[in-house]
Amino acid sequence: MVLPIYVYGEAILRQPTLPVEALTPDVEALVRSMIDTMHGADGVGLAAPQVGRRERIFVADVTPFAERGTLEGDVPPQPMTFINPEIVWESDEETDFEEGCLSIPDLRETVWRPERVRLRYHDEAFAPREHPPDFELARVIQHEVDHLDGVLFVDHLSPFRRRMLQRRLRNMARGDVSAEYPIHAAEG
Ligand code: ZN
Repeated sequence: MVLPIYVYGEAILRQPTLPVEALTPDVEALVRSMIDTMHGADGVGLAAPQVGRRERIFVADVTPFAERGTLEGDVPPQPMTFINPEIVWESDEETDFEEGCLSIPDLRETVWRPERVRLRYHDEAFAPREHPPDFELARVIQHEVDHLDGVLFVDHLSPFRRRMLQRRLRNMARGDVSAEYPIHAAEG
């Protein structure tokens, strides 16, 4: 089921999430809906707060990257589910990438982040797993884990860039926003 995506300004996007204790039918249904919602919006990642939920879960589908040939090595089956993810290591080397976010429509900005991370999580069957530090998903993982901690990619921008975007973000938070997918925005 496609759910509306909560947009910048919604309080839930700033609240930390809660660990998932067990794989209940409710959690399974949430994961399915998150995957439907991500695909419906042509996104490569989606975190639970973006659909108004507080479970520590994100989903990802990097098929578009794989088709563009920007991924190295074997691409795991897509989409992927990450329950209770924790970044347990990050590289000293950083890299820049132009990021966007389904909760901040039509805004793309260059963000610097560690090049590689190691992630511990539970998969869709709730089996514990770990991703090696050279995993190509590092960018998506860091963006989505941020969501689970109440952090948005614009928080990583320089004070100067943030000042430049201030009015746009403020308008968005007031409900002056539209997208090509269902959204849940503040009252205008
Ligand atoms: Zn996002």
